[in-house]
Amino acid sequence: MPIPARLAAVILWRTMAEQKGLLIVYTGPGKGKTTCALGTAFRAVGQGMRVLMVQFIKGSWHYGELDAAKMLGDDRFEIRPMGRGFVKVGGAPTEPEDLRLCEEAWAFGREQMAGGRYDLIVFDEINYVIGYHMLDVEKVVAALTARPEPLHVICTGRNAHPRLVEAADLVTEMREVKHPYTSGILAQRGIDY
Ligand code: ATP
Ligand code: MG
Repeated sequence: MPIPARLAAVILWRTMAEQKGLLIVYTGPGKGKTTCALGTAFRAVGQGMRVLMVQFIKGSWHYGELDAAKMLGDDRFEIRPMGRGFVKVGGAPTEPEDLRLCEEAWAFGREQMAGGRYDLIVFDEINYVIGYHMLDVEKVVAALTARPEPLHVICTGRNAHPRLVEAADLVTEMREVKHPYTSGILAQRGIDY
């Protein structure tokens, strides 16, 4: 049975009205921040949306999601590891190469936000690089706030900056209740990488 024109118009209007790009932050010390972003990406791809994940720290370790994203198709879900592993050990100063890679990743991400190709962009571990002053929080928040209206953005990583939390629409803090690491169990394939 055809939908009456008035009802169709209301449905279309409601659908359009609901296309509000969200700024989402997954933070906290418990496990699940990056995997939560990946789950959201998986859901978005199922809705025919295009997703980009820019990874600030990762680069040297091969995570399962890199191959899983390829299986979905690079034009649907692209993951760009743009770091080279851990950037700081203890209180060591930031190496210029890590700073350069971080700036490159941010410049690329900012370009992609403006480019209109993606419906969801994930900045994985961006909270970590902001926390280490490798990116200026005010510049990041300004660029995120100025992004195109329908674009969803997810920022992950521990210790989200209060300015980012303030600017966000949705913030979830992962709380550690138990983690196998404390019992000496190391990272597991398919669960941690
Ligand atoms: P995941 O990628 O599994 O969702 P995450 O993004 O929440 O984890 P990160 O802070 O990015 O966590 O840390 C990455 C790695 O550290 C992962 O291998 C994860 O299993 C591990 N990890 C996360 N939380 C904890 C914790 N509370 N104790 C020990 N290891 C952890
Ligand atoms: Mg993570």
